[in-house]
Amino acid sequence: MNETIQSELKALLLKEKAELEENLARIARPVDKDKGDYETTFGEVGADREDNTTEVEEYTDNLPVELTLEKNLQEVIGALDRIEKDTYGLCENCQKEINLERLKVNPSAKTCIKC
Ligand SMILES: [Zn+2]
Repeated sequence: MNETIQSELKALLLKEKAELEENLARIARPVDKDKGDYETTFGEVGADREDNTTEVEEYTDNLPVELTLEKNLQEVIGALDRIEKDTYGLCENCQKEINLERLKVNPSAKTCIKC
């Protein structure tokens, strides 16, 4: 892959990573930040029962969001890792180059369109 294009895609990935981390920080705490491993927080446990109910509801709402953000973050981290290892842009399945247009839309794509 052309180095200029790769560094552009890397910049996109780093931006996406920062945004995902920022969003995750609002609803979760990092378990292993390097791996993009997060845990949804319950928030401060309130003293009275009504407060606790709100927190549980919030947790239930946040959990699917957190899992989606975490999954996206792990994909971004994986893509950055592939850039370091020089395997970026190759399909995980068939080892062929992933279409550039596809990578521009989704820089963390692991497989080609066919796969
Ligand atoms: Zn493929």
